[in-house]
Parts: sequence; structure tokens; C-alpha cells
Amino acid sequence: MQKRLTLLGSTGSIGDSTLDVVARHPERFSVYALTAHRNGGKLVEQCLRFAPEVAVVGDAETAAQVEKKLRAAGSKTIVTYGPQALVDVATSDACDTVVAAIVGAAGLVPTLAAAQAGKRILLANKEALVMSGDIFMDAVRDNDAVLLPVDSEHNAVFQSLPAEGTKHGGVSKIILTASGGPFRTREPATLVDVTPDEACKHPNWSMGRKISVDSATMMNKGLEVIEAHYLFNLPGERIDVLIHPQSVIHSMVSYADGSVLAQLGNPDMRTPIAHALAFPDRVDSGVAQLDLAQVATLTFEKPDYQRFPCLALAMKAMAAGGVASAALNAANEVAVEAFLNRRIGFMAIAQTVDAVLNALENRSASSLDVVLEADASARRAAHTVIDSLPVPA
Ligand code: NAD
Ligand code: MG
Repeated sequence: MQKRLTLLGSTGSIGDSTLDVVARHPERFSVYALTAHRNGGKLVEQCLRFAPEVAVVGDAETAAQVEKKLRAAGSKTIVTYGPQALVDVATSDACDTVVAAIVGAAGLVPTLAAAQAGKRILLANKEALVMSGDIFMDAVRDNDAVLLPVDSEHNAVFQSLPAEGTKHGGVSKIILTASGGPFRTREPATLVDVTPDEACKHPNWSMGRKISVDSATMMNKGLEVIEAHYLFNLPGERIDVLIHPQSVIHSMVSYADGSVLAQLGNPDMRTPIAHALAFPDRVDSGVAQLDLAQVATLTFEKPDYQRFPCLALAMKAMAAGGVASAALNAANEVAVEAFLNRRIGFMAIAQTVDAVLNALENRSASSLDVVLEADASARRAAHTVIDSLPVPA
């Protein structure tokens, strides 16, 4: 049966890769809705190519521009805007599969709504799960939603787990691999001076700017440990991080009998996306076959928590529980944006997150409202910290 998709965040890096895979298999996948925030021009191009029933943007002005261009081109796609419109397309009876590819906290409400509506969810938007944790996983379980990880590490773990996917027969550990980002070997004392463009130059993956900075600080891996904790229901002690600069092994599962199962491939997000889109089938993703003779060498190192304080901060927030992970994520989003706008230096990202976590009055994440309140208050706290920091030279 053909799958009908809502693609939240279609104009981003994951959105692009998803549509590339979708276009290869028109008999398997069709598009019900595409959503963008402000990039109306790109959304128009996507709508003309994939003819969704609905397109959603962030505001009325962008909606009017998109609508005008679509009508001029003879398109019938309905254009809507705003947070409720995202929820509407994520829960519509007209779609069965929701690709969650909005970046950051903005993706939480529509992705959680998709879980409550019992959709098949392809999760790239790790921040949504980091923020809402058990609330999200409970919604998936209680509404018979299906949650398939798109994040390459989690998709690799999912592929390497026992066939039932969620049963942990004999699993001793999950090993999340990390490239170490662009600053793995850079002299730590020089990290204060790095620019946004340097931070966004990832050695192996091409991604949106926010996750690229997260990879450079290794906050991304910290968020991924929390993501793995909820997705696979394992405590932090059973989730290891291993630096693997080549990004060929995308993660591993270690078993009681000494076996370690891994998923390998070229670093291209179309592989995990195609896996999750077609699951349990396998389809062509457009990614070249892995040539291990060409790769020749795979190397591994332990992560350096001194060099990457954000990784340690994420572990601390996960151990604290409650709304600490939501606060960590919110403070990080604010700090990364300030770094990208050259308002603070690179090392001030960790400093800001640390200060916000230290000031946090933690509480149980008892409802979505409590989580959203913690997100808002951590954002305010992060802005206060940033206001006190010097502008980099
Ligand atoms: P991106 O910045 O390239 O794209 C983000 C998308 O979200 C865009 O379509 C944008 O219009 C939309 N968006 C941004 N702000 C929004 C808002 N306030 N409201 C509604 N929509 C908004 O990001 P990306 O690299 O594609 O990453 C998307 C998500 O996938 C992130 O959570 C990221 O951590 C995760 N992820 C990405 C990669 C990757 O290779 N890019 C890999 C693993 C996981
Ligand atoms: Mg990842």
C-alpha cells in the first residue's frame, strides 16, 4: 500500500534528503503535506514537483507569497500557516506517515500530536524527544503509533537490535559512534576563536547549521545519548559514546555473549531515511555502496569530556531527570543561535548551558505544559547569561 506523507520541515537538509528518496519511489510514497518556516521560495519549488494537498509556512506574509506563486503556476496546493496548521497536517486522516524534520523545540508540539494520532513517525527532530521523553514515548505506546529513528546512530542501533526491535534479549550496551566534528584534534586553547563557518564545516556530514554547531560542541552526541535512552529504554550507564572519525560505523549494539552488531554505510542521511520510509522493506536510497577497501582504515578513540564540556552537561541533565533535559536543550538552542549571530564565542555555548542548568529548579516532567514552561524559562535564563557575556572580537 502506498504511504502518504506529511513532511514537517521539508525545506531543510533532512527534508531535501527525504524528498530525494521519495522521488525515487513514486509507486510507494506520495506527499500529503510539506511544511517550511520562512523559506517560501524553496517550498514553492517542492510543491510544484510533489503536488502536496497542503503546504504550511510560519506566517501570513510568507503564506500569501507562496500562495500567489503557486496559483500563478496552476498549482492547487492549499496554503496555511502557523503552529496549529502544523498540528493539523501532522494529525490529518489523509496521511499515515509523518517525517519529523523540523529543527529544535518548534517540532515538539506537531510531532507529539502525530504520536497521539497514532501515526507512523520517522523521527529526525531529536530535540522533540529530548524535551518530552516519557511523555512522548507514552503517547507512542498508548496510541499505537510507530516510531522509527532517522538519526543515523539510532537508526543503526534499531537495525542492530534483535529482530523484534524493542525486546532487549541479551543486549548489554548501545555504542553510539561520533565523528568528533571539525574540532576533534584542534588545539583546545584556540577553540575560543572559532567562527560560525568553521564550526559548520563538518568533516563527514552535510547538515543544517544548528546541528552542525551541535556536532562541533558534541552537544549533538549528548542529545543523542538522551534520545537513545528514551527510544531504547536503557539507562545512561548502558549507552557508550565512541569517537570514530570516519563515520562509517553508524553505531553498534553489544550483546551478553560478546557479539557486537553494527550498521555500516557511507555517511549520507538518505540511507537511514530510506530504511525508515520503507521499513521493513529495503529500497534504493541513491547512496553509493560502501567500499571498505577504499575506506581502508577505521579508527576509534574515547571522547574527551574536557574538550567537549557539552557532552558532559547532557549526561548530567539526563541523570538529573525531570525537566533538566528540556532546559539543557532550550539553553543550547539559544546559545547556538547567539553563536551563529556572532553574539557569543564558541566556548560560551557550554558556559551558557552550564549556568542555566546550575540555576535550574528541577521538577518532574509531568505534562507537556510543564515541559514547555521549563523550555521558556530556560530560554529566558540563557538570554540573561548571554547579556552578561562579552561580544567576541
Ligand atoms: P535545517 O535547518 O536544515 O532544516 C530545518 C527545517 O525546519 C526547515 O524546513 C525549516 O523551515 C524548519 N523550521 C525551522 N524553524 C522552524 C519553526 N520555528 N517552525 C517550523 N518549522 C521550522 O535542519 P536539518 O539539518 O534538516 O535538521 C532537522 C532535524 O533533524 C534536527 O532536529 C536535527 O537535529 C535532525 N537531524 C539532522 C541530520 C542532518 O543530517 N541534517 C541528521 C540527524 C538528525
Ligand atoms: Mg546523529
